[in-house]
This record gives sequence, structure tokens and C-alpha cells, in this order.
Amino acid sequence: MPLLELESVRRFYKQKHTMFSRAAHAPVRAVDGVDFTVEPGETVGLVGESGCGKSTLARIICGLEDPDEGGVRWNGSDVGAMTRAERKTLLHREVQMVFQDPHASLDPRRSIGQSIAEGIITHALLPAAQVERRVQELLAQVGLNPDHAHRYPHEFSGGQLQRIGIARALAVEPKLLVCDEPVSALDISVRAQVLNLLNRLKRELGLSMIFIAHDLDVVQHMSDRIVTMYLGKVVEQGSCDEVYGATAHPYTRALLSAIPRTLAPDERLERVVLEGDPPSPIDPPAGCPFHTRCYTAIDRCATDVPGLLPVPDGAATHRASCHLADQVTVSLIGMVTTVGSSPTPSERNN
Ligand code: SF4
Repeated sequence: MPLLELESVRRFYKQKHTMFSRAAHAPVRAVDGVDFTVEPGETVGLVGESGCGKSTLARIICGLEDPDEGGVRWNGSDVGAMTRAERKTLLHREVQMVFQDPHASLDPRRSIGQSIAEGIITHALLPAAQVERRVQELLAQVGLNPDHAHRYPHEFSGGQLQRIGIARALAVEPKLLVCDEPVSALDISVRAQVLNLLNRLKRELGLSMIFIAHDLDVVQHMSDRIVTMYLGKVVEQGSCDEVYGATAHPYTRALLSAIPRTLAPDERLERVVLEGDPPSPIDPPAGCPFHTRCYTAIDRCATDVPGLLPVPDGAATHRASCHLADQVTVSLIGMVTTVGSSPTPSERNN
């Protein structure tokens, strides 16, 4: 049974009237019909440009927002049917977030020991006399000096603060960590240390993870499975080997081609530079939502919505929403290869 299951989840934000316009506004379609699962012990990488719906999805998963439509199941239980108390004891404890900015996520007026202890006390996980010792264990677990529990956030570097944020998340013994760009605000020199720490904790504690990041090299390093989102929808998903080995959606291909790689010139993937910004989620284009920027679009892309279907000749778990997913797949592991022939514009339109 999946640890987490989202079924046809939609989250639309109503726009407020302004003093200049009282006309009814169309809602912002932040998440638009997403199916998503996380298995026990699995790390799922969530990728896409800013505004694609990743962070809204993360907030729904953590129980910080409710979807307007669709269902969320946690460990087999319907989150929508949970009482406030059940949400607090189940979802809010077992799903924890690691934030992008470790400075902003800690209270500067409280010692780091107090911040880490807060969840243990709130959920009454230990008798009061054992909390201090547990905080010291958690600091040691994330590679910090246990004697520094009385220090304040301003006394630590960015990398150390992120370790403290991870210790605070682990304090309530979660089953799922939602890591929202956890290393993008850190110096390059400490990013690898924090990523290795997350990987070690995942192995040792049997955690599941959702790993949200812009850096697709990092996502590949961390994840078992990749989900690509565009304009609030999932456009491709599959295991790392499937998505990186035989990319089926032009948008995923563009994101992956932007990764700087130290390959020989004849092994480098041709860089795909997307033109323009993503369309507004208030008024998404008809047909395929990516067709206004797609470099392989055909006429029907402007009118027909592609389904998220298994990629032909791929594994059943590899899915893409593209009318041409059966014609071009590109390997991004090592050399560029083309499976099938790349169609000419006139061939594509036939
Ligand atoms: Fe591009 Fe058409 Fe595929 Fe959409 S359906 S990604 S527009 S080729």
C-alpha cells in the first residue's frame, strides 16, 4: 500500500477584487488534476519551473492546505475525513518539511535546543526529563556538536542551520520528509554534505522523501522516481533510469538538457532553450498546455489534450502526456540516442 496517494487533486486560488476592478476573475489553477503516489522508503523528485504547482502540492501533502477537488490518502486513511485531532497526531507529525531557507524556518529568539524540542513536547513523545537528552542525540545524528543545543540560530552557518532544520523535522519521528529546495540557498561547498546526510538518514531510518529542486542533477542523485510538472499538471513520470534514459516529454528534455555536464563534446546533449515564460495559470492554453513553447508541436497539440499515458516500448511506470511520446525518446545517460526517427514538421502533422 502506498504511504501517500493523491487522486485527481485540484487546487484553484480565487483572485481578490481590487479597487480598480470588481469584475469576477478566473481562479489561478495552481494544481490541476494531479495523481501522485509515494511508496514506503521511496524518494520522489518533483521538478518544474517556478509556478508549476510543486510548492502548492507540497503544502497539500503536508496537510497545510486542502484540495478543492480530489482525494488524499495517508497510509490508507482518507485525509479529508480525518478530524482535526487525527490530522495533528497523524499527518502533522508523520509528514515533516525541510525548508529552503533554514534562517527563516527557525525562531531567532529561541535556542536551537528549544526549537528542536518543540515537536517532541507538542506531541508528548517523551517524558520532560528525557527531552534534553533526545535533543542532543538528534544534534549528533545530523553531525552537530550536542553541546551546542543552548546556542542561537545566528551562531551557526547556513549548512549547520539546515542540519538543525533536519534535526527538528526528525524529532517527531516522521515517515515522510518533504524537502523543498533544501540546498539551493546553501554554498556549493556544503550542498553535497547536506545531500549525503539526507541520503544516510533515509537509509538508516527507512524514510520516504519528496525532493523538490531546480537542479536536476541533484534530483537524479537523490531520487528513485521523477515527476515533472508544468502549469499545475504532471507531464512525465517514471523511474530515474526511465526518465533520464529515455526522456519522452519535450519539456522534461528541455529541463534536462540545461544541466551542465562534464561530457566529451560528441557526448553532450544538444541544448534546448525554451522561449518565453510559461503561460498564465489563470488562463492556460487549450490543448496541450505546453504547446505555446513546444519545439516539436504539431497542429493537433493546440486543440487535443494529451493524456498521461504509458510510453510505448517503455516500462508501465513510465508515463508522459505528449501526442508524440511514441515517436521520440532521448537518452540523457551518456550519449545522445534517438529511438525511432525524429519526425520532420510535415511528418509530425500527418
Ligand atoms: Fe509538444 Fe504536442 Fe507533445 Fe505537447 S503534445 S509536448 S505540444 S508535441
